[in-house]
Amino acid sequence: MRFRFPGSLRGRGALRGLGTSRALRSRRSGKLRVWPLLVFVAFVGFYYVSNQQEVPLTGRTQLVDMTRAQEVALGVQSYRKILSELDVVSVGPEVEFVQEVAELLVPVVEEADFSWEFSVARSPEANAFALPGGKVVVYTGILPIVGNRDGLATVLGHEMAHAVARHGAERMAQQKLAQWAGMAVSLSVGEMEPATQRMVLGAFGVGSRFGVLLPFSRKHESEADYMGLIYLARACFHPSEAPEVWRRMGQHAAHRQLEILSTHPAPETRVQQFQQWMPEALAVRREYCSSRAEGER
Ligand SMILES: [Zn+2]
Repeated sequence: MRFRFPGSLRGRGALRGLGTSRALRSRRSGKLRVWPLLVFVAFVGFYYVSNQQEVPLTGRTQLVDMTRAQEVALGVQSYRKILSELDVVSVGPEVEFVQEVAELLVPVVEEADFSWEFSVARSPEANAFALPGGKVVVYTGILPIVGNRDGLATVLGHEMAHAVARHGAERMAQQKLAQWAGMAVSLSVGEMEPATQRMVLGAFGVGSRFGVLLPFSRKHESEADYMGLIYLARACFHPSEAPEVWRRMGQHAAHRQLEILSTHPAPETRVQQFQQWMPEALAVRREYCSSRAEGER
């Protein structure tokens, strides 16, 4: 017999009446336990307050629970592992191109003291990524899309911003919180009917993924776009190339996902944001590069 959710008095009365039956005594009460949620909320409040950081440049408050040293160690470890699995290009025009642009960007970021490293890997994939602590990998497949120095500075600036803003560590802290929240929810519904439990846990999973983790991922992308734009302007590259690069990337992406399902903002959203930030970027460029002739770097 399946246990019915005791929503009616009759159900509860029946349970009480048959209280001596061992099988029924072990049945679930059907009630939501509130204490795991209260403990979770109290703990998260404490955890959040004691692990707050501020993102340079944007001033956004973020949750990061590992030290800079732990983060750098983690980044170096994954960097070495990833490089060992990639077809790393060590000399040639592609490497020179990347190194030359990177050298101009490193002095203008907040974390100029990171031990920045830039590697080029041969791959048809149009991709680049940054690891915590300032390790950046650029695939040769992205070079035709970036097209020129300003375009490459857009992509490198964006990746460097992810490292400076500690997005990797923030994502790890969020995933940890989501896991703990999942445990609290699962404890809270532990007395309920299995079907109800599955429904609540399923809704929680969907809610945390689409309501928190993915929007945060898109927020990180936009933040990296903004910071990268300011960096490339500081390094006297041309900010106006940034939206062009993302437009080209958008055209290149063969299978585009809907923005809500994606970890990245839609290309149109990106281009629009760049247009909003452009006056500021141009002002930064004037401030940092006033002694240089227009077009010269
Ligand atoms: Zn990114």
